[in-house]
Amino acid sequence: MADHYEVLGVARDASTDEIKKAYRRLARQLHPDVNPGADASERFKSVTHAYDVLSDVKQRDNYDRGGNGRSGGGAAGFDGNFGNFGNFGDIFETFFGGGGSSRGPRSRRERGQDALIRVDLDLDEIIFGTHRELEVDTAITCATCNGTCCQPGTAPVTCDICHGTGTIQRAVRSLLGNVMTSSPCGSCRGYGTIIATPCVTCQGQGRVRARRTVPVDIPAGVDTGLRLQMPGSGEAGPAGGPNGDLYLEMKVRHHDVFSRDGDDLLCTLEVPMTDAILGRSATVKALDGDIEVELRPGTQSAEIITVKDRGVSRLRGNGRGDLKVVVHVVTPTRLDHKERELIEAFAARHKAPAPALSAFQQGLFAKLRDRFRG
Ligand code: ZN
Repeated sequence: MADHYEVLGVARDASTDEIKKAYRRLARQLHPDVNPGADASERFKSVTHAYDVLSDVKQRDNYDRGGNGRSGGGAAGFDGNFGNFGNFGDIFETFFGGGGSSRGPRSRRERGQDALIRVDLDLDEIIFGTHRELEVDTAITCATCNGTCCQPGTAPVTCDICHGTGTIQRAVRSLLGNVMTSSPCGSCRGYGTIIATPCVTCQGQGRVRARRTVPVDIPAGVDTGLRLQMPGSGEAGPAGGPNGDLYLEMKVRHHDVFSRDGDDLLCTLEVPMTDAILGRSATVKALDGDIEVELRPGTQSAEIITVKDRGVSRLRGNGRGDLKVVVHVVTPTRLDHKERELIEAFAARHKAPAPALSAFQQGLFAKLRDRFRG
C-alpha cells in the first residue's frame, strides 16, 4: 500500500491544515462526479483513506509508528467503497455549481403522455384502407379552469417560504468547509407558487379523464405490428401542458380463406379432378368482388394461377399486389359401379406411367416463392 503522505503529496511533518488543503485539491480532481475514469476512482479512494487516517490525530500517530491506520478505531467506517460518501456527491454538485440553485421553480405544466391503442382490422379493410371512429379514454384539459388548475377567478399565489424560487438554500458544514446546498421547497413542492383555491372539477390537476372519439383514416396496405403516429392526439398534460402523441397499433385478423404475403393475397382453389383434366373457367368470390379464373386443360395440383392487381394496395407506392390462387386437385373418394368401370376403361386406354420418384416438392409457400422469382 502506498504511503499516505505520498498519496496526498504532503511532507511527513505537514500540518493538519496542509493535509486538509491537499485533500481538497485532490478530491476536486478525482471525485467520481467530476472524473469518471476508473483510475481516478481508485485514486480517490486511496486519497480519501489517506486523509481519513492523517486528519485524525490518534490515527496519524498510530500510522506514524507503523500501524495500518485502522487500529485507532476512528476509521472503522471506511470499507473501501463509496457507500460512506453518499452525501458527498450532493455537496460536490453544489460546490461545482451543478446544483439546483441555478434552476428556477418547477413548472406544473408538462407534456402529456403518449397513448397506444390497438386497432383490429379485417383483411378486406386493408385492401383499400378504411375509416374508423376510435373511442379513446384519455386525459383532456379541464374545461372549467382551462388548465390553470385554479377555480375560475382565482390565481396561484407566490409561496412565502421560498418567495417563488421553488428552492430552499442551506449552508452545510463539510470536509470542504461550508457549502451551500439547495433542495426543493417543501411548502410549494418546488413550484414557487401555491394554489390556494384548486379547481373543483379537476382537483387542481388542470386535466380530467374523458372519453373522446378520434376519427382515423387507416391507409391501405397496413400490416400487423405497424404503428401509426397521430401527433398531439395523446393525453393532455397536467396544468394545460401540451398533448402527447397517440399511437395506433395495427392488428390484422386471421381470415379463413385469404392469407397475406406482402402485398399479395394467397388462397387455395379446390378443383375437381375432371375439371383439372378438361379445363374450364370458374368464378370465385374474392374480398373485393368476383374474379374469373381460367383453368387450362391438364391443370396440375399446386399450380399457381396469378390474378394481377387483385392483392393488397401498396402502403408505399402505387398499385396493388396480385392474387395468387393455388390449385388443389380433388380426387373423388367414392365411385359407384359405373363410374369405376369408366375410370378403369380410361386407365386402360390412357396407359399412364407407373408411379415414380422425382425431386422432393418443397412446401407450397416455398414453391410459390420460387415461382415468383423465376
Ligand atoms: Zn380544472
